[in-house]
Amino acid sequence: MTTPALAKHLIGGSLLGDPEKERRNPAHPGEVAVLSPSGSAAEVDTAISAAVAAQPAWARMPLPARGAILLKAAEILRERTPQVAADLVREEGKTIAEATGEVGRAIGVLQFFGSLGWASTGSIFGSAIPGTTVTTRREPIGVVGLITPWNFPIAIPAWKTAPALISGNAVVMKPAELTPMSATHLAVALHEAGLPDGVFNVVHGSGRIVGDAIARDPRIGALSFTGSTAVGLGLEKTLQARRARVQLEMGGKNGVLVVDDADARRAAQVVAAGGFSLTGQACTATSRVYVTPGIREAFLHELVDLAGGYAPGDGLDAATTMGPVVSEDQLRNDVSAVQGALDGGARLLTGAADADGLNFAPVVAVDVDHSAPIATDEIFGPVVAVIDVPDYEAGLAALNDSPYGLTAGICTTSLKHASDFADRVQAGVVKVNRPTSGLDLHVPFGGVKESSSNTFREQGHTATQFYTWEKTTYTGVE
Ligand code: ADP
Repeated sequence: MTTPALAKHLIGGSLLGDPEKERRNPAHPGEVAVLSPSGSAAEVDTAISAAVAAQPAWARMPLPARGAILLKAAEILRERTPQVAADLVREEGKTIAEATGEVGRAIGVLQFFGSLGWASTGSIFGSAIPGTTVTTRREPIGVVGLITPWNFPIAIPAWKTAPALISGNAVVMKPAELTPMSATHLAVALHEAGLPDGVFNVVHGSGRIVGDAIARDPRIGALSFTGSTAVGLGLEKTLQARRARVQLEMGGKNGVLVVDDADARRAAQVVAAGGFSLTGQACTATSRVYVTPGIREAFLHELVDLAGGYAPGDGLDAATTMGPVVSEDQLRNDVSAVQGALDGGARLLTGAADADGLNFAPVVAVDVDHSAPIATDEIFGPVVAVIDVPDYEAGLAALNDSPYGLTAGICTTSLKHASDFADRVQAGVVKVNRPTSGLDLHVPFGGVKESSSNTFREQGHTATQFYTWEKTTYTGVE
């Protein structure tokens, strides 16, 4: 029996907290993967006080020195990748290849933002006022709160933490309850890299207690959240009531339009990778496909072939190509979405509304109505709903007819379709002949409509805008 990993809070530079809560391995429900503390509002208060005390000195530390700490943390995580990735698989369930890639993403993010220690942080202007120069620079917010989900348990904490820290903020983060260990690894790496005590704090526990206490504390000047739409919109109200900044990345129902001029095999590869990688549990996963009549049969043939090729199982087993669903609650949701589609008249070309333990085989549903729940509601499982459309225009209109707008894709060999789609599709990220999931770390990411707060983008240089405000200084030289 594997010994459980021990997740800890990081508060004021101390790793602490009793092993109160069990997280079982989704591949082996009899195995306790992680034991973690369950934080209180008092612990959040202590963490925020530590952050408030530490932040001014951190912001005054020379920028290259701040960057060097992030780069060192990246190096520590790189050395520990096999252990961190294995712990990630045990708590979240994805395959070891996917987990290793995710740890690599966290490392890349720390390297990207660490390298900004040498970047320019402002501009210099001539002034209309004689003898005067104008400079701009970006100032940190102060103390920021981060609330993160379970599906990328180290990458998302890293891509919120790194831009916050390099910008001179102190951070209080609450990771998802299902995945406390990955965030602990990030905290330990930053701590061991020499981050001053109190600059980065992690408090584990429930959203209702720990998340709520972070969001309500008036010392939190900005909150970045990734998770469900319902929780995000509630947090937005809380933050806006005191005019604090809020950044929300929420649900998606990412569609792909497959048109007659696409290559059928290539289109199926794009849809399978987008729909079934990571067990379909990415906010950017493909979950609805609009297909035109001339390619329908060939495309579905190829898609079913690819869907049948996945080997579900324990993510630590090298032969596994699809890890289990993260939890019984999530599995119930997947099963009931597929059952609902069957009840509504859809047919499954592959997959079923049942599971072996938490292993849920990829589903391809056809004869789906555009307004059926399987085509409109986020599922967060390896389920692709295929909807027939007569032509490109009808497909684009149907794809845009959604409250969500995170990512969207088209499979085509036509430059005209590709460029028209990029112009007119309502999504924050557009993929032409590439899966809707899978993002570069150095370019902006975020959605429109109900997928996002539509304010600040995450990732790349633009990510620092959320964690800073711009100051303009006029200097008279005589
Ligand atoms: P998911 O469906 O991805 O689990 P949630 O929105 O439930 O999405 O969770 C995302 C994050 O938000 C988690 O860290 C969770 O604990 C936290 N959370 C849930 N409810 C609240 C709340 N009422 N206030 C603050 N944070 C919350």
